[in-house]
Amino acid sequence: MSSEASLPKVVLLGRPNVGKSTLFNRLIRSNRAITHDMPGVTRDRMEGVVRPRGEGAFTLVDTGGITLDSHCAVAEGPRGIRGFEAEILRQAEEALQEADLLCMVVDGRDGLLPFDEHLAAYLRRSSKPVLLVVNKVDGAEKEDLLSAEFHGLGFPLIACSAEHGFNLRGLEEEICGLLPETEEEVPEEGEDAGSLEDDGETPGVRRRRAAENLRLCLLGRPNAGKSSLANAFLGKERMIVSGEAGTTRDSVDLSLERKGRRYTLVDTAGVRRRARVTDAVERFSVNSSIKSTTKADVTFLLLDASEGLTAQDKRLVELLDERKTPSLSR
Ligand code: GDP
Repeated sequence: MSSEASLPKVVLLGRPNVGKSTLFNRLIRSNRAITHDMPGVTRDRMEGVVRPRGEGAFTLVDTGGITLDSHCAVAEGPRGIRGFEAEILRQAEEALQEADLLCMVVDGRDGLLPFDEHLAAYLRRSSKPVLLVVNKVDGAEKEDLLSAEFHGLGFPLIACSAEHGFNLRGLEEEICGLLPETEEEVPEEGEDAGSLEDDGETPGVRRRRAAENLRLCLLGRPNAGKSSLANAFLGKERMIVSGEAGTTRDSVDLSLERKGRRYTLVDTAGVRRRARVTDAVERFSVNSSIKSTTKADVTFLLLDASEGLTAQDKRLVELLDERKTPSLSR
């Protein structure tokens, strides 16, 4: 097992009172940091090692460094922003430099505040990977609603509740997925590495096992870029990619191997606009695309960013939701 000094470093950043120290305590499972309700109470930098079950360990750092003064500085305008950056630099620069991943913590109940936007811009310039942690999402039912506006910051995002324990395993997995590989041994199934809960098979093991032969379906309007994405995954020009809508007529199964795992990628025919789904051939192609998603483990709904979200995309989202298809929108 590698020494703690060589473990990847994850740094928690965010304005006061978003729940950084609560999160820190939950993840390292101790009560070394003192949580408080009064914003702006500065704390020393805290460090601890997180050993998620089934994943590599990492060092977690809570800088606690962004103070109420810097928060006020942001509210004061451009001069304040410079003040804010100086404050951040002074208190968190060292942790930032050493970080392999920056976890920017925000308060899902407060929503997106100017401070968060300034911090996001600052972290973006650090060119370190950033994971946005939307905290105080105290249950799955509010997850989408409370996270929605934070997507605009453009970081990978996960919602959780440090205080109530919601999705903390998901957070650990997300963090590990964004960290560089280390020589840290991954505990075998059944071997205890101090997990949050102890319910047998770990998410990491489950996820790895599930990844064998996963069926991934690419769905979207014609010309959204499904075949190009499939080719990018495969690293070859296997499919005929054309700017002419509807070049790929039928669903095609493609085998893909990544890091020793096998996947089946299903490139569907594009789903056309409703007004055009009139003739029998087109209806067939629409139906077969939708049908492909029901057999898939995960469906990727591809959107054309240059055209934005169209009515047809919304209809597809609705359909996937109605059918409870596991899906990702990209
Ligand atoms: P920090 O300043 O970012 O380190 O924030 P703290 O961890 O000190 O938390 C600030 C306040 O938010 C405390 O009263 C916590 O109990 C509360 N808090 C932290 N996490 C959550 C959460 O997930 N849900 C709710 N409802 N409150 C939380």
